[in-house]
Parts: sequence; structure tokens; C-alpha cells
Amino acid sequence: MADLSEKDEAEILKWKEARILQKVAQEDFLHKNGVVIFSCPDGHRFPDLYGKHEEECRCNDEKAPMIHMLTDHGGALVLAENSPVNRPTEQMVDMFLTLLERIFPCLLWQILGKMRLTRRLAAWIARRADIFALWRIRMAILVKGCWDLSLYAHAPCGAANAHGLGANELLHAYMRGWRRCIYLFAGVRIRCFFHVCYANGKQRTYLVKKNAAVRWLGQNTHLPPIL
Ligand SMILES: [Zn+2]
Repeated sequence: MADLSEKDEAEILKWKEARILQKVAQEDFLHKNGVVIFSCPDGHRFPDLYGKHEEECRCNDEKAPMIHMLTDHGGALVLAENSPVNRPTEQMVDMFLTLLERIFPCLLWQILGKMRLTRRLAAWIARRADIFALWRIRMAILVKGCWDLSLYAHAPCGAANAHGLGANELLHAYMRGWRRCIYLFAGVRIRCFFHVCYANGKQRTYLVKKNAAVRWLGQNTHLPPIL
């Protein structure tokens, strides 16, 4: 389990100063017909992330809150098109090739499987994690009939670290994922949260001011504009 680096903590402090990350309010957890949450399943940070959301929901509603939980490594970063956290590793490509071999157990496949083109095809399939995740969110909204979606990203995140993302690249992928949800899930109320586990062990959940984040990234980084 990696701790939050000094560099990333310094960036997160800048986000707070720019009021991109704000204290959560009771109304941020007001869900009329329940909520679909999409977050990272990080076993070290998830209990605090989920516990905080549930606790705040309970404060708003005496009944048990309806929280429909979906997770994927990297949380909402996964939802961005060509997200850096969806870059397949060599092991993932090998696994897809093994699966394809089971589907086509013929000599032709044994030959094709060794070709570079086939590895590219397997890599292309592995990159489609965003489509599968977006579809799971769509299904959750339909199945549960709830129109509140809470997206989460967090730091430090093992998936982001594994792909070499710094804090600003992480925020950039997060906001691209959010923009995609706006486009795909018209009429759904989308809130973005950010969970931080500081190096001193303190864990905090913040509300993300999305437009402020997009503006700040445009003014303070060289990352491509978020459209
Ligand atoms: Zn994570």
C-alpha cells in the first residue's frame, strides 16, 4: 500500500486553495430514490469512503439508504475515453490471448495467436474497460430507477500509480470521465467526490467543483483541454 507522495499532496493542497476540493455538505448526500456510486474498490481506503457516504445518507434519511455500489480499479478514471488506467499490461494481453485460444482451439488460431496483429487485437479489447463500466452504470440507473450518480476518485490510488499518473493527470482523467457521463446520462444528477488518504493517515472526502477543476487544469497544466 503506497502512501500519498509529497508531490501529490502539494498538488492536492493547491486544488483546495483553488476551491476545486470543498468540504462536503449534508445536501450533497441527499438522494431522493437512492444513489449509484462508482468508485475504486481499494481495500485500504474503501471502508472510509463508503462509510462516510452511508453515514451522511443516514443523517438525511431515517430509513436505510439505497446505495447501489459499482467499483473498478481507478474509480471514475476508468470512464474516460482512452483512459491511462485502461492501458493493458502485457499480462492482461496474455490473458486475453489465452481466452481467445479457448474459444478457437484450432491450428489456425495457434498460428494467428503468435502474430503481432493478434496481440494488438487483444490489447484493443482490453482497453475497452470504459465501455463496460459505462454500460454497468447505465444498467444500474435503469434497474434501480434512481437518478443520482456519485462518482469517486481517490489518492493515493494503486491503479493510477501503476500507470505512472501524477495528481494532475489523475484529476484530468477524472474530469474527462465525468464529462462523458454528462453526455451519456442526460437527466441524471451527477456529483463528483474525491477521497484523500494523507501521509499522516487522516482520510477525508471532498466534493469536487467540476468546472473549477476543468478551468484550473487548463490554466495550470499542459494537459489537453477537456472538451
Ligand atoms: Zn484506487
